[in-house]
Amino acid sequence: MSESFMGWLFGVLLIIGFAVVRTLLPARKQKRAPVAYCRAADMERTRRLYQMAEEKLRKTGLQELMLKDFRFQTVLNDADLKDMKTAQKKFRMMLNELLPYLHLGPDVRLVVTDNPSQLKTDALGQYDHSPFKTVSMLVNLSVCADAATLVSALCHECTHCFMYTYLLNDPDRQLNEGLTDTMACLIGFSEIMLHAKLNRKLPYLIHPEFEELRRCLLKTRDELNKQAEQSKDLESAKAKLKKDLAGASAMVEQAHAMIAVNKTPKTQKLSKSAMARLQTSLLSLESGDYEEKLRKAAQVPMENLSAVRQTDESVLAICRELHELMQVF
Ligand SMILES: [Zn+2]
Repeated sequence: MSESFMGWLFGVLLIIGFAVVRTLLPARKQKRAPVAYCRAADMERTRRLYQMAEEKLRKTGLQELMLKDFRFQTVLNDADLKDMKTAQKKFRMMLNELLPYLHLGPDVRLVVTDNPSQLKTDALGQYDHSPFKTVSMLVNLSVCADAATLVSALCHECTHCFMYTYLLNDPDRQLNEGLTDTMACLIGFSEIMLHAKLNRKLPYLIHPEFEELRRCLLKTRDELNKQAEQSKDLESAKAKLKKDLAGASAMVEQAHAMIAVNKTPKTQKLSKSAMARLQTSLLSLESGDYEEKLRKAAQVPMENLSAVRQTDESVLAICRELHELMQVF
């Protein structure tokens, strides 16, 4: 290969390499470019809203909604928005999925319109409860052409319905809108809210605030899961104690009966310490000490796991003593 060809090849490779680097650089830059929001994120307000919404949700006893992310079976695509009939059908299917999930009755009407003037505000959705519970959705490509954003709006409106039905609304309308966005995240829609291209003014939330809510939610989920684990442990410890108590009571009766019949130990070849243990057990049995201990064990506070386990240990110790005693008689 001639030197001039090598030089030519090197030059070509250099140009190609340079071109590749140039095309990659702006892409990386674009990815990193910060999104401009219409206002600064207010994390303090977001966390306050989270606490308020969590407190409200706990009152309904439906806090298990916080444990999972809701996922629609029905998929709404951007293309579906171009055909009103398809959009209407899909929104109807999605509403049908949401109502039972949110423990709501089927008495919620759906209006899907392409006319912005049919909605009271310039929002993508609206919820009214008078004269009928009604969720209205605006499908109009010149207003919004993004299906994910419309799905998040549907979730927001259904959350209004949920809050209205479970009496969780705040009388302050501004605060109530922020609370509704927050509640939507708590009851399973946090991923949906994150995927929406929302850049909204107060009192609504913006993307970084939804991210903060998601962080708070994941923390709460951890705590709830731990509590559920502990209560599962407590339930099995309680059941075990109950079983051991019944077994110990039966053994006490059995030991009484055995001693009444046999009167004296079968064997005299016992060590000093074994003899001492036997005498103590015999005394406990005859004085009714075992019955008294078992009666107290049955009254242990059942909400405390370590107390239940400790009591169970003491019941099992009685069983061991009685077993040893009965072996001798
Ligand atoms: Zn709203």
